[in-house]
Amino acid sequence: MHEYSIVQALLDQVEAQARTRGATAVRRLRVQIGELSGVEAALLASAYALFRAGTLCEAAEMDVEAVPARWECRACGQGIPRGAVLRCPACGTPARLAGGDEVLLRSIEMEVP
Ligand SMILES: [Zn+2]
Repeated sequence: MHEYSIVQALLDQVEAQARTRGATAVRRLRVQIGELSGVEAALLASAYALFRAGTLCEAAEMDVEAVPARWECRACGQGIPRGAVLRCPACGTPARLAGGDEVLLRSIEMEVP
């Protein structure tokens, strides 16, 4: 499943960061999931519950923040309102996706002795 590999990658990232800083445990993770990333928050949460056992994240909460899709003009950068035609109202250039397809590890709270 897609979410399993994403959680595994997130845990790898967190462990690497925690090791670099000499942390003994992780308290909280913040993850952003784009509307168009194809990731389901509920599936991600259950994959996380399964995978964190035995890792530094065993007792860590995972906050998931949903990020809406954002479009902008590829020529002049003007934002395209949600639900509008995907074309710039100012110059007519087709829009490009500016955000909302990402899965991002935003922050990690950890315990450093
Ligand atoms: Zn434009």
